[in-house]
Amino acid sequence: MQFHHHGYVSGDPRVQPAAGVGVDRPAELPDEVDVLIVGSGPAGMLTAAQLSQFPGVTTRIVERRGGRLAIGQADGIQARSVETFQAFGFAERIIAEAYRITEVAFWKPDPADPSRIVRTARTLDDPAGISEFPHLIVNQARVLDYFAEVMANAPTRMSPDYGLEFRSLEVSGEGDYPVTVTLLHTAGPDAGRERVVRAKYVVGADGARSKVRESIGCTLAGDRANHAWGVMDVLAVTDFPDIRTKCAIQSGTGGSILLIPREGGHLFRMYVDLGEVPQDDAGAVRKTTIEQIVAQANEILHPYTLDVRNVAWHSVYEVGHRLTDRFDDVLPDQRGTRTPRVFITGDACHTHSAKAGQGMNVSMQDGFNLGWKLGHVLEGRSPESLLSTYSAERQVIAKDLIDFDKEWSTLMAKKPEEFDNPSELEDFYVRTAEFPAGFMTHYGPSMLIAAPAHQDLATGFTIGKRFKSAPVVRVCDTNPVQLGHHATADGRWRIYVFADAALAGAPSPVADFAEWIANAPDSPLAATPSGADRDAWFDVKVIYQQDHTSLDIGTVPAAFKPQVGPFRLTDYEKVYGTDPAADIFELRGLDRGGVVVVVRPDQYVANVLPLTATAELAAFFAPLLPVAKPAEA
Ligand code: FAD
Repeated sequence: MQFHHHGYVSGDPRVQPAAGVGVDRPAELPDEVDVLIVGSGPAGMLTAAQLSQFPGVTTRIVERRGGRLAIGQADGIQARSVETFQAFGFAERIIAEAYRITEVAFWKPDPADPSRIVRTARTLDDPAGISEFPHLIVNQARVLDYFAEVMANAPTRMSPDYGLEFRSLEVSGEGDYPVTVTLLHTAGPDAGRERVVRAKYVVGADGARSKVRESIGCTLAGDRANHAWGVMDVLAVTDFPDIRTKCAIQSGTGGSILLIPREGGHLFRMYVDLGEVPQDDAGAVRKTTIEQIVAQANEILHPYTLDVRNVAWHSVYEVGHRLTDRFDDVLPDQRGTRTPRVFITGDACHTHSAKAGQGMNVSMQDGFNLGWKLGHVLEGRSPESLLSTYSAERQVIAKDLIDFDKEWSTLMAKKPEEFDNPSELEDFYVRTAEFPAGFMTHYGPSMLIAAPAHQDLATGFTIGKRFKSAPVVRVCDTNPVQLGHHATADGRWRIYVFADAALAGAPSPVADFAEWIANAPDSPLAATPSGADRDAWFDVKVIYQQDHTSLDIGTVPAAFKPQVGPFRLTDYEKVYGTDPAADIFELRGLDRGGVVVVVRPDQYVANVLPLTATAELAAFFAPLLPVAKPAEA
């Protein structure tokens, strides 16, 4: 964590100095805002937390509830989400309070007596070591609390505007604030009073029954029927031995339970499968009582028993796999003629089975994808065309995940005798570990993702997938660190320069690259606003092939040691050597002739290039930076 470079900070350095619109942020929702986010669930809160880092952008988030979410809803946090929390600065704290999944146990009917269940397998939750981050279970309410804290401590000093319900919107396409939104006060002295706000952009993060979705003419399409689960968060006494382990339990009667131990050492959640909901159900399944859920759980767990002593929350969670055909307000025949003004994120545009624990996680990644793009466009860093990439990227990903989720849910719902081989379910779980961990996302080529022309130079940093961190050693303080963990959610592009074999200071391709990126007129850094730190938009780091003891930081090119803050101090923390015990060049298949890896602000690899391909790098950034020009051919 870097601070003190603007002068001594005596308090909590996580509280950033107020800046821009945060200096005298009005408590009341203003009549005009840059971005209006509707809904303070995971999708809306992440989008808001990301935008809170852009001091020039007025963002407000309205929520119809009167205050914070207290209990219930989702609880599964994939490793990709924890990686995202790291970028927002609260991974360590949430890991400390969460339940950590390390193994999954599978229980099935005892072949000798199918009325009893027996444990048939255990698998590691992340057998392939997909991420250095754990798979967690913690209540959605706590996740939202952490994002609220990030916003409150950000330069913009944001907090949700509770007690305001979205009613309708109209996009006029005219003026600086072309979206007119009608809201209704749902709480406080103004309850029942309507309120009109004008916005440049609106983000609908208002859940599965989204009104924003409706207002832009989208419908969720997909499964005809919903699947229902009786969900309970309970404190209970039981002789079931795996009560503190995640379990998929199938009974001889065909009933099944997904058991999720919860944070705090005692609480656990059970999803009791209530099956497909008939089309003519007319809400009958939702009348399932907690007593019925507990009775069914006891039946499935036989010969074990469950004595529920306290019910923290219970619900009948009814959901189908559904998806909208677009995630913004641009109709298919308008594509290319105008850019979007209204976006939908999270459950508003895709819903998933609870069994694969996707809902909250995918929704947060929608917000991560969209937040920085809005920030860049509104701060004039990028053209509006950037905003069209949100729907183009996320709609495809949501569809892939839903297809995968369907396969997984179908397998989970199979009766034991229907499996081709007895370990089909466990094998599938292990083979597709990337899916439950949240790393399946792979964006295709676009203005933000280069074609994989030079992928062979960095086989472990797949273009279009998230940047997978690896250990390195920071030269200045000899600290062993994870390279990816220094990519905070500050809206900056990352340019990782993996050096050729020459030592720092010697004439080499990396020295030539450093000279170009620091000084060439077609370098993306030339777009940095005058007066801002040289690394304000682009964080350029170098990783040498040698270990830190062989590197003299004094000879490292200035491009990798920018001067920052009002005192023009040297930032020494962008220079790394390899960790001899875990060489990043080996781990990530990096070419020893050197390679440049470009990473987006939401942590996806955008490009891989040789050190000499400066014109190609300039051409990649040119459409993203209005002021940068590609090199003359
Ligand atoms: P949400 O978390 O639904 O957030 C939407 C927010 O928008 C809410 O805070 C809502 O109050 C607000 N809102 C809605 N309409 C308006 C409006 N017109 N104006 C202003 N604000 C509005 N997932 C699981 O995996 N397991 C579960 O057991 C489970 N249970 C759930 C129970 C409930 C009651 C709900 C609603 C969801 C549940 N989910 C569950 C789904 C999971 O919570 C979502 O997938 C995830 O939260 C999606 O995040 P989101 O931000 O898109 O939407």
